[in-house]
Order: sequence, then C-alpha cells, then structure tokens
Amino acid sequence: MAGTDYAAVKDTKFYRNLGIIAHVDAGKTTTTERILFFTGKTHKTGEVHEGAATMDFMQQEKERGITIQSAATTAFWELDGNKYRINIIDTPGHVDFTAEVERSLRVLDGAVVVFDGKMGVEPQSSKVWFQAEKYKVPRLCYINKLDNIGADFYKSYTSITEHLSEKAVPIALPVGIENEFNGIIDLVEMKMRTHHDDEGKVIDVHDITDDYKAKAEEWRAKLIEAVADVDDAIAEKFLGGEEISTEELQTGIRNAVLANKLFPVLPGSSLKNKGVQAMLDDVCRYLPSPHDKDYVIEDEQTGEEKTFHGKVAGWDPKSGEVISRDLHADEPMSALVFKLAVDPHVGNLAFFRVYSGKIQAGSFVYNSINGKKERIGRIVMMHANSREEATEVKAGDIAAVVGLKDTKTGDTLSDEKNPIRLASIDFPEPVVRFAIEPKTKSDQEKLGEALGKLTSEDPTFHAQTDQETGQVVIAGMGELHLEVKTRLLKDDYGLDVNIGKPQVAYRETINAEAEHRELLKKQSGGAGQYADIAMIVRPRERGEGYKFVDSIKGGSIPREYIPSIDKGFQESTTAGPLGGFPVVDVEVEIVDGSYHEVDSNTDTFRTAAFYGFKNALKKAKPVLLEPIMKVNINVPEEHVGSVTGYLSSRRGIIKNMMPRGKTNELNAEAPLGELFGMTSDLRNLTSGTAAATMEPSHYAEVPGGVVASIVGEKSGE
Ligand code: GDP
Repeated sequence: MAGTDYAAVKDTKFYRNLGIIAHVDAGKTTTTERILFFTGKTHKTGEVHEGAATMDFMQQEKERGITIQSAATTAFWELDGNKYRINIIDTPGHVDFTAEVERSLRVLDGAVVVFDGKMGVEPQSSKVWFQAEKYKVPRLCYINKLDNIGADFYKSYTSITEHLSEKAVPIALPVGIENEFNGIIDLVEMKMRTHHDDEGKVIDVHDITDDYKAKAEEWRAKLIEAVADVDDAIAEKFLGGEEISTEELQTGIRNAVLANKLFPVLPGSSLKNKGVQAMLDDVCRYLPSPHDKDYVIEDEQTGEEKTFHGKVAGWDPKSGEVISRDLHADEPMSALVFKLAVDPHVGNLAFFRVYSGKIQAGSFVYNSINGKKERIGRIVMMHANSREEATEVKAGDIAAVVGLKDTKTGDTLSDEKNPIRLASIDFPEPVVRFAIEPKTKSDQEKLGEALGKLTSEDPTFHAQTDQETGQVVIAGMGELHLEVKTRLLKDDYGLDVNIGKPQVAYRETINAEAEHRELLKKQSGGAGQYADIAMIVRPRERGEGYKFVDSIKGGSIPREYIPSIDKGFQESTTAGPLGGFPVVDVEVEIVDGSYHEVDSNTDTFRTAAFYGFKNALKKAKPVLLEPIMKVNINVPEEHVGSVTGYLSSRRGIIKNMMPRGKTNELNAEAPLGELFGMTSDLRNLTSGTAAATMEPSHYAEVPGGVVASIVGEKSGE
C-alpha cells in the first residue's frame, strides 16, 4: 500500500513541495487531478480506465468533504530510477484571497504556473506570478488547454515574456494544435513523444519527425542560448561551437531554475492527458528540493538580512538571536503552521510543514510564539485520494494535526528544549466590515459558533461583538470576501442572516509633531487624584504602528507608573480625536512630569495618559486614513470610456490599461468607501460584460473635503 511509498522516499533531496497556481479556469483543478491520477498508487497508467477512476475519485471526494485534499496532498513519481515525493500544496486561484496565496507560497519550494493556451497571461496569473517572485519561488510555466479551438502555444508564450518575464523559455513544443494536438517535442533530449489516445495510456518516444526538425532545432538553439546567458560552463561550450549533452543541458537548466534565472515553458492539455507526465518529470528534474532553497531572514538586532542556503532559519525566542537548523530529521524539531481548517469528519485541523526533526502522534510540542505546550493528537496526510494516519512525520513533510488548541496560522511549533521562532505569515488587516444578525433570534448562539470556526480558518476574516451596541460585526478584505463568508453561514451552517450597511475601516494618524502636558488634579474632598505627564507625539511611517519612548530622567515620574502610562496611551489609540477611529503610526515620548506622594497611583497616571494622548493628537494635525483598493477590471473596448468615467467619479486613479485580446485590462486604485456597489454598477454600465476584482492596497490620507462627510456619518450612526 501507500505506506511503502512513504518509506521509499527517505532522502528529502527527492521531495518536491509544489504549488500549482493559475488564473481561475486555466485548469488548476484538472491538472492537479491528472497529477494525482497518473501518480496514483493503485491507478498506474493503463491499468484502470481513466474515466472511471476519475469519477470514482470525485464521488468519494464529495462524500468525504474536500478539506484535507484541498490543502495538501502527497503523490509519488519515478524518474531515472529514483522515487520522488511530490507534496502538492493548494494555492487558490481566486480573487480577493491574496492572503491564502501568500501563506501557501511560504511553505512551498517550487511552483507550476498553469496558463490557458488561448488566453495566455490573465490578471490572476500575473498577480500570483509576482507574489511568487516576492518569495523567490522557482517556477515552471505549463501552457494548458492546447486542444482547445483557438489555442496558440507561441502566442501564449509571448504573452508570458511580455507580461511576466523575459527569462521564460520553452523546453518542449507542442506537436499539432487544437484537435490535432497529439504530442510534445522534448527540446532537451530532442525526442518526440506521441500520444495515441486521449487517456494518456500509451506514449511513443521516438525521433523527431522531419516536418518538425527545423522548428525543434530553432527552439533548442534558443533554449541553449537562454541557459548560456546565465551559465558559464554552457556559455563556453556554446560559444566554442561544441556539442552540449543532454545531461549538461539538464544541469544547466536546473541551476538556472533554482536561481530564478530561467522559467521553463511546457505545452499540455490536462483534460486530454497530454503533457502531464512530461511535466511531472520536469517538476522532479528542475524544481527545488527543500535543500535547494534559500531562507532569508532579518537579524532583528542589526536589521541586516541573512541568507541561509538549504537550512531553515529563525530566531531564538528568548534572546532574539538568529539561529538556523539543517533540514534533517535528527535536528531539533521545528515546524510552521500555515493553515487551520475545520473538517466535518475529523475536527479542527492544523496544517504544518516540518522543517527539521520529527513529530510523533501523542507527543507534546512547544508553540514558541505563545509559549504554550500543545499535545499532538492524530496526524493525517492525504495520499492521492486516500486519507492516511501517520504515527510520525519528519523534516520535509507536510501534514495536518487534529486537535491543537491554542495555535494560530503562522505559529512555530518546536522542541521545548531547543525552541526556535520561524518568520510568521503576515496577514493584512480587514478594511471593510458590516453588522450581521441571525434572522431567527434563537440562532444567536449557533452564529457565534459558526463565526468562531470561520475566523479560525481564515486569518483575514474577523468577527466580534461590538461592546457598545451588542451587534455582531464581521470584517474582511472586501465586500466579496464577506459575501462568501455569509454564503458559507447559510450553506454550511444553515444560518440565515440580515446584513447591515458595509462600513469602511478608517484609521487616524497625525501629520505633525506636538508637545502636550496633561495634568490630572482633583484634590478637593475625599481621596485626591494627581498625575502630570509631559509628552511629545510624532508621526511615524505608514505601517510602523505605535511606539512608546520613555525619556523620564531623575524620577520626575516614578518608575512604577511608567507601564501604566504606556497602557493608557495604548487604550487611547483605539479611538482617535477626529472620528473615533483607531490611531496608527504614532510615536509618543514622555519627557517630564510630576507626582504627588499620596494622590498619585498607577490609575491616575493611566487616566492622565489616556486623555493626554488624545489632547496631544489634536495639536498634531490629525488626519483620517482610508483603505485604497487595487481594482482590476476586464472590459470590452466599447465600454472602456464609461468604466474609466465611473472610476474617476469615484476618486479612482487609472494606473494602466493593457489590451487582452478583445478586452482591455484596466488597473486602477480607488478608495474603498467609494466602491460599494461597484459590481452591480459595472454590470449596468457594461451590460454585464465587465469583470472586476479588487483587493486592499494601502492606506492613504482622506482629502480634506471628504473628511467631514465621513466623520459626520460616523457620529450620526
Ligand atoms: P481551475 O479553475 O483553474 O481549477 O480550472 P478547472 O480545472 O476547473 O478547469 C476549468 C474548465 O476548463 C473545466 O471545464 C475543464 O474541464 C476545462 N479544462 C481544463 N483543462 C483543459 C484542457 O486541457 N483542455 C480543455 N479543452 N479544457 C480544459
């Protein structure tokens, strides 16, 4: 059974932690399914009728729930006599879920980017491409759907070099196209692989036929040139006119891919089972094992970036010192939790990647972020289409554990005696929220439970009860994000809810430095109150947050009151002086003060700090910040004018516009507050032909003229 497969791949050198990323509809699901089919232990190519096996598989999928399957699946593949283990990590191709993509990019080592052979580069593929760029994830480009009418490998390839990277180069070419697409030419081995059916059962490997020889020579020369550009050994041979062997070229390609200096391009049709096996070969041949990756982290003490090759690096949770580990099972354990999910059959699942050491079911691990010990319950893994329990997982593995209590996405699990803190995963703060209430009052408790589950799964989705109104407020990345969640409440939990008006998560900050002295003095009758704090508030860069600086000298304020002052300031940041929105990016320094032997205590200083901070901000040119959304709209030529007009009337700025076949892709930025209802407005303006996506970009100052209406709205609530 599959257990022997797990044991067969001992060396993590043969591991591939792989992401398959794509624009919606490019064929990610079909490709993943075909990979699982061709790698399936019990469904060796040719043994089982493909159609039947796939249907079986899908049926079981439905019955079992797809949670585990969709987050991480293991497959095995053999190449050149070596058995490889491919862990496929899900990366959603959908709009609005940037955070989901980012967290999977953190734990995967290489990716296959799937393109639609007719559409070429689409908005989502370019977005994910550049996210992968940020994490320096080596990539293969798989041009899919070449059997489709209108598919064009070369045009799609050109769109990759034009929009994504000039370092992309084909390592294989299609034979035939559309209905006639029936094989590929391997430009490295200079062989043709011909398919005789649409089931991928029989592939003939033979010499390139005469009609394709010239084309193959031409593109092999381009490939060698591209490799020679980044590889001295190949360059020398190439310039000397020497023959370059298959092995040399493969090594050259591998090195270039690992260094992100080359992106091989491959043809295929997942639906027709063509090109998938070759792609699997190339995944094993060219994409990195965990040991081939660089881990870059910042020394928190010096701010300097440090790079570790083939090791995982983090910080000592106590000293903050940078430490690293080899990616081996005999090192102290370290693992990163990258996703939480609730599976109806299994319960709470935490998905993690083990970087070093081993984790045993039933053992205890240390969460080095919150300092708590957690018991590892059952460990589950997916192998193709079956769920398996494991008693132990080790360096390089990706698995899920059932029943962790206090662990969040981005937390590090480690060995208590040798703790390490790995870089966490950053999630953007929500920018939009609205109140919800169950249509049936008695569902209140059920709503709380359902929201608890949904928020634990998605770190960009928040829910809380408003202290003042008792209302339940949900918050997220955009209207669509929240619509998806309310739909889940109905579909998965049977909860019908009323939805309030969407509200923007505004913030406040300051634009100038200001000094302020707050004196709290009540000394008439009974116990008195006394606290006196002199402070300076200063603006900080966007995203730097709150900072407290203590410059009190000579005991003008006794040490024991200082923490309460900091606390008072922090409490005050929850509601700014303009509209009661949270205050961000402000430094406050305390420089002087005085106290009273009897009437001063921690509470009086905390209260004085609370009011003092607000009063100081008022003097420091307070401003309102609003979330600016990146808007991406695909719109046919004839509607471009009305869409750009619409955006301008909403304080939008058009960033660029690119032709995409018959439509135009329009990129713009606009304040979230102006974009409510955009989807239906666009539908009306363009007779339903425009498709829009948006995501939070950054916070920017609200123009003076608009502030009053926002603040007025808030106070009128
Ligand atoms: P995803 O949204 O990226 O996961 O895309 P899917 O795998 O769900 O595919 C979207 C649609 O394209 C489905 O109807 C597939 O059957 C179809 N499709 C996927 N791969 C191919 C292919 O190679 N050729 C053709 N003709 N259709 C394909």
